Order: sequence, then structure tokens, then C-alpha cells
Amino acid sequence: MAAKKTRKMTGEQERWLQTVPNRYKPSYIKAMTIKSAVAAIRAKCYECNAYENAIKRTHECHIISCPLWPHRPGNTEWPKNDRSLGSYEKKGQNH
Ligand code: SF4
Repeated sequence: MAAKKTRKMTGEQERWLQTVPNRYKPSYIKAMTIKSAVAAIRAKCYECNAYENAIKRTHECHIISCPLWPHRPGNTEWPKNDRSLGSYEKKGQNH
């Protein structure tokens, strides 16, 4: 198995980390140090929810115009083989 690509956080990113609640620090660190789009989306969604009950709120996010929405953690609203925005809108569940 190939080793994951990693990078060090910059000083500015380290300072920003100090503003992140402890519960969400690991997701921020992972997003900033490992080459992973999934980790980056998760961390951004938690930040978007101001770290307030962010896991639940990310799962329940209704801002479907957000480019991250189809990829956010906990998106189980679409069948695995049909995650297109168009199919969701056809169901009349757009916000
Ligand atoms: S998908 Fe929702 S929670 Fe995630 S960044 Fe977009 S609006 Fe915020």
C-alpha cells in the first residue's frame, strides 16, 4: 500500500487551528496535511456550520446549490449509483 502524501501546516494554518474546537481539530488537521478531497470537504462542511452540532448539521444540510453538497459527509439521500443533482431536483426536494 502506498504511503499517503502529507504536508506540514503553515504558521497561519497552525494559528487558525487554535480557533477550531477540539472535537473538530482532527478533521481540520487531516484536511490540511493529507491529500484527500474527502477530508477537505468534511472539514469545510464542519466549518460552514460554525462547529455547532456540525456533524448532524452537515448530514442534514439543505443548501443544494453548494458545490460540496453532493459530496458532503452523510449524504445518503441519493442512491449510490445516482448522485447527480438533476435526479434530486426531479424529486422536488430542492431548497
Ligand atoms: S454542503 Fe452544506 S455544510 Fe457543506 S459547505 Fe456546503 S452548505 Fe456548508
